[in-house]
Amino acid sequence: TASWLLVPLVTLPARFGTRGVGAGVAFIGVLVLAIAIAIEPSQPLPPISALIALLTTLTAVSVLSTALMRSDVDHRTEAVIDGLTGMLNRRALDQRLQELTAQALVSGQPVAVITGDIDHFKRVNDEHGHAAGDAVLVEVAYRLRKALRAFDLAYRVGGEEFLVLLPGAGVPDAAGLAEQLRAAVAAEPAAGLWVTMSFGVSGSAGPHLERARLLNEADAALYHAKARGRNQVVAATPPTVAGAAAGV
Ligand code: GH3
Ligand code: MG
Ligand code: MG
Repeated sequence: TASWLLVPLVTLPARFGTRGVGAGVAFIGVLVLAIAIAIEPSQPLPPISALIALLTTLTAVSVLSTALMRSDVDHRTEAVIDGLTGMLNRRALDQRLQELTAQALVSGQPVAVITGDIDHFKRVNDEHGHAAGDAVLVEVAYRLRKALRAFDLAYRVGGEEFLVLLPGAGVPDAAGLAEQLRAAVAAEPAAGLWVTMSFGVSGSAGPHLERARLLNEADAALYHAKARGRNQVVAATPPTVAGAAAGV
């Protein structure tokens, strides 16, 4: 029979969406007819009932697999995308850091991290309500992404904490970019409210990317930025020696 023709159909929804599947079903239907006519031109056409049965099977399989694929894609998207801001989430960050660790072993390329936290965000919630706070988060996330290049990866890693991964970048370049992010957030009101952000920057060099150290140093630098008055960037000083977690 022509049931093997159903196999490519099952993978269609993930790649082409519903409309693509419709086109695929029509195409396979025509193909089946054409083959039937081409292979046995002497034979009369198969009875109309057989054709209807075939097309019904095609349609049923495609509808079913579309539904399955859609829920699968939804699940995967939810797993790595933050629902509020559309940014990548902490799970995505963990995955990417694992990949970068493996890549660093081969390439020895540096990786820089920028971590940022909105200043006095609790006040925004307290004075204007949680919904207003959410609107600020969405606007800040948008502005951060706009200030980044398309291939820089931006994550929402906590309530009002964001992180940028910069494969190939050194700490000075990352600090320069962090300053641009800081200025972009402070430049104009976000969702009607003036907010500022503090940033910490860290970097790793060489084949051994120590993820925990990279993130801890960025957090420590961010903590210093808060302590020094907020709305500023502090970069960790490489290489790490005890007592030198943060520089100017
Ligand atoms: P600091 O300058 O030291 O960072 O002060 P802060 O008030 O921003 O710091 P803190 O961590 O104490 O407060 C963060 C607040 O962010 C607390 C929490 O209510 C709020 N928050 C966390 N997640 C969300 C969210 O998804 N939506 C809203 N609206 N608020 C959130
Ligand atoms: Mg904060
Ligand atoms: Mg915070």
